[in-house]
Amino acid sequence: MERTLSIIKPDAVAKNIIGKIVDRFESNNLRIAAMKKIKLTKEDAGKFYEVHKERPFFNDLCEYMSSGAVVVMVLEGNNAVAKNRELMGTTNPKEAAPGTIRADFAESIEANAVHGSDSLENARKEIAFFFAEREIL
Ligand code: GDP
Repeated sequence: MERTLSIIKPDAVAKNIIGKIVDRFESNNLRIAAMKKIKLTKEDAGKFYEVHKERPFFNDLCEYMSSGAVVVMVLEGNNAVAKNRELMGTTNPKEAAPGTIRADFAESIEANAVHGSDSLENARKEIAFFFAEREIL
C-alpha cells in the first residue's frame, strides 16, 4: 500500500471537472485518503516546485499554480505513485496516451490538469507539505 500526492490544478478546477478527475482515481482502485480545496500563494507554489527553480518556466509555473483554486489529495492504494502517473499521462498533453487525464482534460504543457508525485520519497515530502498526519484517513 502506497500513498501519493495529487493536485487538481487551476485549469481543471476552473472547468468544474473535479468530480470527473476524482472518478478516474476511484475507478482505478485509488482511494481518497485526504482532500482539500485551497488557493496557493505564489510563494507557496515556489516552495512546492523548488526543484524546478532553475527552469525557464519556473516563474510562469508559480503564477499559474497560484492563479486559482486547486484541490490537493492524498491517494492511497497498491503502487499508488506509479498508478497515478499512469492515469495522469505525460506532462505534455499532446503526447499523452488516449484515455489519460491529461489527454482528456489538459489545456497545455503548463496548464495540464493534474500534478502527481514522481517517486515514493517525493510523495512523502509533498504529502507532508499539505497535510498533517491526522488529516489523512
Ligand atoms: P510532471 O511531473 O509531469 O508534472 O512534470 P515536471 O515535474 O517536469 O514539471 C512540473 C510542471 O511544470 C508540469 O506539470 C507543468 O505544469 C510545468 N511544465 C513542465 N514543463 C514545462 C514547459 O516546458 N513549459 C511550461 N510553461 N511549463 C512546464
